[in-house]
Amino acid sequence: MSEKIERLKTVIIGSGPAGYTAAIYAARADLKPVMYTGMEPGGQLTTTTEVDNFPGYPEGIDGPTMMVQLQQQAERFGTEVRIGMVTAVELSDETGGIHKLTIDSDKVIEAETVIISTGASAKYLNLPSEQRLRGGGVSACAVCDGFFYKGQDVAIVGGGDTAAEEASYLANICNKVTMLIRKDHMRASKAMQHRVNSLKNIDVRYNTEIDEVLGDQVVEGLRMVNNQTGKKEEIAITGLFIAIGHTPNTGIFKGQLDMDETGYILTKGKSTKTNKPGVFASGDAQDKEYRQAVTAAGTGCMAALDAERYLATVETPEEVV
Ligand code: NDP
Repeated sequence: MSEKIERLKTVIIGSGPAGYTAAIYAARADLKPVMYTGMEPGGQLTTTTEVDNFPGYPEGIDGPTMMVQLQQQAERFGTEVRIGMVTAVELSDETGGIHKLTIDSDKVIEAETVIISTGASAKYLNLPSEQRLRGGGVSACAVCDGFFYKGQDVAIVGGGDTAAEEASYLANICNKVTMLIRKDHMRASKAMQHRVNSLKNIDVRYNTEIDEVLGDQVVEGLRMVNNQTGKKEEIAITGLFIAIGHTPNTGIFKGQLDMDETGYILTKGKSTKTNKPGVFASGDAQDKEYRQAVTAAGTGCMAALDAERYLATVETPEEVV
């Protein structure tokens, strides 16, 4: 006899601030949420050190501790946190339809509602010296970590809107910002380019890439190379910010959920509703603009409220026994 397929009211995929906030609200609304943590339990915040900009922590808090506390808070109201990956999905088109999720390429479960909070991953250059110094002065988030380099010299890589915005942000805090752009022009909007060019302590280097990040335990400098002339130059810096884009972790939903051309899930209006009834998207998987822990938490809350309202209005089919 085949085993009965588990049917859940609400499944939350991903365990960053969006997922845990969705879990807190869903559990308190008696949706009995089950969370699958994904490969990196706690999400991107577990790779940062100090979180100084989340409201309610006057002394700051380190990322991993904050995620443990969020998990405890979600569990206090009855969220079941399971270590596991959702590796495939079969999302129903029907209102009140049942969604099928495959866990760890093995077990299939059914969900009446699904909250996606799979986040995004920052892209890195993947130079050995850059990877070695992640957490030792190499960061992919100027808003999170820029403050630690107050009054110091830093560099940033990238020529898009994120890099331009982060370079301007750093210029307000740091002594000098060297901005490395691999092409002979910036991809960022004209307004952002203007902002960068108007700040006297940003030194923009076009046609320039990183040859090596210098430093043993922490970043001490950078060897840059001009990709037109081959000329190399070393500068002293204490912080290096990589701002070459993010990849939303939405691959398993491709072909089923509406996404923009870069893979961010599209949500309807001000809600977290996707094009599939009962499937809601929150956090960085649907937001390429703000990408903050606090904004992710806000959309996680919205997703749980949207799921609760949806379940209150639909009838789901009986479980097959
Ligand atoms: P983008 O993809 O727009 O830009 C990435 C930048 O990084 C490009 O300059 C690219 O160079 C460069 N890059 C990529 N790979 C490498 C590499 N290996 N080495 C060196 N440089 C590299 O990403 P963003 O994160 O900047 O923006 C993503 C989206 O979000 C965009 O649509 C943007 O407009 C939007 N956004 C809007 C904001 C706003 O409106 N306030 C703020 C932030 C983002 P190249 O040009 O040569 O490919």
